[in-house]
Amino acid sequence: MLRIGTGQDNKMELEFFGAAGEVTGSCHILRVGGRQLLLDCGMIQGGRDAPQRNRLPFPFQVDAIDAVILSHAHIDHCGRLPLLIRRGYRGPIHTNPACAELLPILLRDSAELAARDAERKNRNGAANDPAVEPLYTLEDVEQVLKQLRTIPYNKRVDVLPGVVAQVRDAGHIMGSSSVEVWLTEGSGKAVVRRKLVFSGDLGQYNSPILQDPWQFSSADIVLMETTYGDRRHRDRAATELEFGEILQQAWRDRGNVIIPAFAIGRSQDVLYLLGKHADEWQVGRWQIFLDSPMAIEASAVYWRHPEQYDVEATRLRRDFSMMPPLPNIRFCRTPDESRAINKMRSGAIIIAGSGMCNGGRVLHHLKHNLDRPESHVIITGFQAPGTLGRQIVDRAPSVRIHGETIRVAATVHTLGGLSAHGDQDDLLRWVRNFRARPPVYLVHGEVSSATAFGARLQQESFQSVVASPGLKLDLSTLRPLADDFSS
Ligand code: ZN
Repeated sequence: MLRIGTGQDNKMELEFFGAAGEVTGSCHILRVGGRQLLLDCGMIQGGRDAPQRNRLPFPFQVDAIDAVILSHAHIDHCGRLPLLIRRGYRGPIHTNPACAELLPILLRDSAELAARDAERKNRNGAANDPAVEPLYTLEDVEQVLKQLRTIPYNKRVDVLPGVVAQVRDAGHIMGSSSVEVWLTEGSGKAVVRRKLVFSGDLGQYNSPILQDPWQFSSADIVLMETTYGDRRHRDRAATELEFGEILQQAWRDRGNVIIPAFAIGRSQDVLYLLGKHADEWQVGRWQIFLDSPMAIEASAVYWRHPEQYDVEATRLRRDFSMMPPLPNIRFCRTPDESRAINKMRSGAIIIAGSGMCNGGRVLHHLKHNLDRPESHVIITGFQAPGTLGRQIVDRAPSVRIHGETIRVAATVHTLGGLSAHGDQDDLLRWVRNFRARPPVYLVHGEVSSATAFGARLQQESFQSVVASPGLKLDLSTLRPLADDFSS
């Protein structure tokens, strides 16, 4: 096929576009034998300029992309796929089957947010401002879904001529992958072969439900996430113990427990821990509400894929007739079901989105419970500056919800250790398995975190580079180290 304007034919090359020097917007491109493969196509999130940056033209020719491999369903990895489609991409999008089931949940929500955002801008703009179009629409999302091609874990597949790929369980969320790519260019004596491993997002070791991240041993180059490259999480056992103690205290106080939770991953972890410790924590005396249509849908995907469970979750699932093993759980799909919870003054555990309390149903639960000293709020994840969740964590004496000032009298707990990302120790444990110490390019982390992790890597005899956007590498110049090319 004749390609005009790419100028990259016959060059084995890697270029970084997104999540380079920052956490979000994951997107990298591999070029081999005149073909181009995109790794992820994520949304840029956070920061005032994120909406404009997401609208910019892609810094590559969209119709010159031949294939996409998607590591997982978080929006900062998949969120601009509908835009890629809108701008003309018609090729395959390869991903794990469980990821393919989570994608519609996240992408449809993202398209609806984009529509509401455009509507608000058009309402608030001056009469002669040009109309704002949504970033993409539900139709674009449906087209993404049509172009999905699922690949199971642990099976090598031919993605393009000269490109063989394999996805491995990254243990981060259901269906999350690390990606191995074997690249071959030329033939006979002139053949060039290189292998790249892209970590995707890596989960914690010993996290609930999911398996540990797959351990690789061989690569010529590694692309590695560094979200928590400079931090350590709280110990998992201590986290579970603390969760149990909070519930005991809340029961004694005769209050409700509000858990703002992220729909995918954290909600399922919380439910799983309630099920796992049901007897010990006397969970049966509570009424549990999963008050988020998105989390309910995502939970169904989690329970549909027991093949991705770790040993403990597999055993739990065998012993119980339902997952999660909680007979006292109610799934609240409609707004009326959600509002009905407001009547309960005690004995309710309410899991509702959004995770950072910057929208969603959790707002009205907070409005009804925050000002009562017998209430307990459990924060389970990172709270970005400027969010209501952050104000609550920072112990603001009062907060504004739906235009009302609410006094914060409830007890607020921050439950560390439930992060979907591995910490510095987990990341080191993962990378140490590369026996020949290939060069490591650090992505998906603030520069400070990636730099701190790079310093640790040096102590382990790894050379590393903090990737920057637009950085291009000629892969043929890498020292060949990989020993698992199949001929
Ligand atoms: Zn992720």
